[in-house]
Amino acid sequence: MPEKILVVEDEIALQETLAYNLKKEGYVVEVTGDGRSALEISRKLKPDLIVLDIMLPEMDGFEVARTLRKEMSTAILMLTARDDEIDRVVGLEVGADDYLTKPFSMRELLARVKAQLRRARILREEMGKSPESEPPHETISFDNLTINLTRREVTLNDKIVQLKPKEYELLQFFAEHRRQMLTREFILERVWGWDFIGDSRTVDVHVRWLRQKIEVNSSEPKRIVTVRGGGYRFEG
Ligand code: CA
Repeated sequence: MPEKILVVEDEIALQETLAYNLKKEGYVVEVTGDGRSALEISRKLKPDLIVLDIMLPEMDGFEVARTLRKEMSTAILMLTARDDEIDRVVGLEVGADDYLTKPFSMRELLARVKAQLRRARILREEMGKSPESEPPHETISFDNLTINLTRREVTLNDKIVQLKPKEYELLQFFAEHRRQMLTREFILERVWGWDFIGDSRTVDVHVRWLRQKIEVNSSEPKRIVTVRGGGYRFEG
């Protein structure tokens, strides 16, 4: 079955270009130009991916993404026009799966779309596994911090830490590479995937959010340490 994509973009020329190119790739595409109807269409269509512009009439892309995140696990690829929106886009507030800064090439957009849909397929396959194939509970602990790999759950002082999927994946990656110096590029490639074309600021933003959640004092981090001129090192 072809995958369904909802394009939310109020610039008609761009909306049409996006729809045309995505349809050419074989996807089922719906379009809308405002945030409020984006929500309505998403609820009915249950798209596999939403390409979501930020500046929209009625309701902006931030609010659309925040609302949808509570209701469904659809992948969200955000379109930003300004650099200063990126922190919000990849951060805790919105938690978009990926973003593109305008202007972008269609080739780049299609690569991101494919990567997100592939990711979503893998997730769906994992969720659909029968209970018998569920691996035994496996945890990694560092003092008061415990990562449950089966449930993808993190506890600090026996309290559950609310993490976005990417924050969890980043923490697990750190935990599996304890005391190793990890460059931003390496982290980006391994946690976000080789086909994620974003830059290392994405890593920095997520590290900042993680620190706020697992460090005693996030401005003097003891667990995720910055290595000058290099990257990060997880001390445990
Ligand atoms: Ca716009």
